[in-house]
Amino acid sequence: MASVEQHVEQEILQAESPISRRGDEIAVENPATGETVRTVPDLGAQDIAEMAARARRAQPEWEAYGFDGRARVLLRAQKWLMDNSQRVAETIVSETGKTFEDANLAEIGYAGNAFGFWAKHGPEYLADESIKSSQVLVKGKKLILRYRPLGLIGVIGPWNYPLTNSFGDCIPALMAGNSVILKPSEITPLTSLLMAEGLRECGLPEDVLQIATGRGEAGAALIEHVDMIMFTGSTRTGRKVAEAAARRLIPASLELGGKDPMIVLSDADLERAANFAAYFSMQNAGQTCISIERVYVEEPVYDEFVAKVSEKVRALRVGSPKGGFGTVEVGAITFPPQLDIIKDHVQDAVQKGARVLTGGRQMPGPGRFYEPTVLVDVNHTMKCMTEETFGPTLPIMKVADADEAVRLANDSPYGLGASVFSRDAARGEAIARRIESGAANVNDAMINYTVLELPMGGAKTSGIGSRHGAGGIRKYCSQQAIVVTAKLAMKKELFMYPYKTRTSRLLAGLFKLLYGRGKRA
Ligand code: NDP
Repeated sequence: MASVEQHVEQEILQAESPISRRGDEIAVENPATGETVRTVPDLGAQDIAEMAARARRAQPEWEAYGFDGRARVLLRAQKWLMDNSQRVAETIVSETGKTFEDANLAEIGYAGNAFGFWAKHGPEYLADESIKSSQVLVKGKKLILRYRPLGLIGVIGPWNYPLTNSFGDCIPALMAGNSVILKPSEITPLTSLLMAEGLRECGLPEDVLQIATGRGEAGAALIEHVDMIMFTGSTRTGRKVAEAAARRLIPASLELGGKDPMIVLSDADLERAANFAAYFSMQNAGQTCISIERVYVEEPVYDEFVAKVSEKVRALRVGSPKGGFGTVEVGAITFPPQLDIIKDHVQDAVQKGARVLTGGRQMPGPGRFYEPTVLVDVNHTMKCMTEETFGPTLPIMKVADADEAVRLANDSPYGLGASVFSRDAARGEAIARRIESGAANVNDAMINYTVLELPMGGAKTSGIGSRHGAGGIRKYCSQQAIVVTAKLAMKKELFMYPYKTRTSRLLAGLFKLLYGRGKRA
């Protein structure tokens, strides 16, 4: 492995090469008003190389803080976040157009929990492990598995959760002792900049966390400089990231798109199921990777379920969140091209025979809003059932039985989350186990994401790797296996040269004794 000095030298050489520096600015728009909030620098490859060189210089000191020193900074940041929650929420809302409730519950609540969780559990997940082995050749030796920070981590994030999904992944990477460069979405860079400012105030050394504002090219450039890349975004971009990481032979953790199914069995508590369907399809205006994107309902309860959901969705207030808590339930569509996808999916469904029970239209500006929409008479020839819509739409399909629901739920290239509703929890769990997804909830939805002890990652094209749990911090480290021979350190081992018939036979006999007592039939 190259030394830190070699890395720094290489980065500086690259930084001094005549790669383009764009020097442009990116205007950050408030999707709820159409107004420009602020501009940020559009960094180019040269800027990223310089940042990487600085990050590598800063990392050894940060690693030397140890778990206690790093945990102290994270715990101060937790308090800073709570003290500044209004300012952070306003920043999130200004660049995403989401409601204050969505910013508070799924972003500030998440990050507050995550700072404390990683400060507490990081040391435990990364502690040296003393390994026991049944291997005779290592009897009496000390076996250790240890984790050490990789060095420089690149985090690339999407626009839907600037705090949770862009900044959130920096927390365990920092706790592990790495430097981090975060490339937020060009649409929503302001929250990341504010969090970096907060962490500096809390004592994070200069350059340990840097924010690379820029477009997709800045993300691509970042991959060329880091020791590991943590990517959250679309499956399409995730493939490019995986290819670039493979060329450099660096690990990549990919959290990608989803098309989460919900299954409602005929014995479900329909009121609870309908509330969950309405909330978890429309929360964050449907712009959540683990939103409920499609529902399969057993025939006997289909009509009642559809009536309940439609009534609840029809009652939702949509619009600018500027009034604060309690004013609207559904905020803006953050990313302009997403609105075209939502409109296309609804139009495609209607052209193929679907009915719109409520919603179905873009709302007049200013700002970008789409009416919360319930679609029925849908099937798998329609985009709304097979492609990620990422908007406030809920297509509901009638199925004959649970088997058909499971078959359709699995008829997708995606496999992020899923939910099953049944009063028979054991049956619900049995069905959840048949769904090809990284996470599944019974009589619940999305709740697994808040459980930081549980891994969260996608199956199929929804991702590779996971966040949270022990793996969610170990991935920012390299493993080192250490064997220490202290006691019984003889001058020579039995199996060494010169080979002698007697000892070789003795060893062959020993293996037969150890491994030859089983049966072949
Ligand atoms: P994108 O894939 O379009 O972008 C994600 C990030 O990658 C952005 O910062 C983007 O920069 C950057 N990027 C673009 N091109 C490249 C490149 N060639 N190399 C490196 N980075 C690049 O996703 P969205 O921002 O549209 O986010 C929405 C998607 O994210 C949805 O599919 C959603 O399901 C998924 N998601 C998944 C989650 C999960 O946990 N599985 C959680 C949240 C969202 P820029 O924006 O500047 O172009």
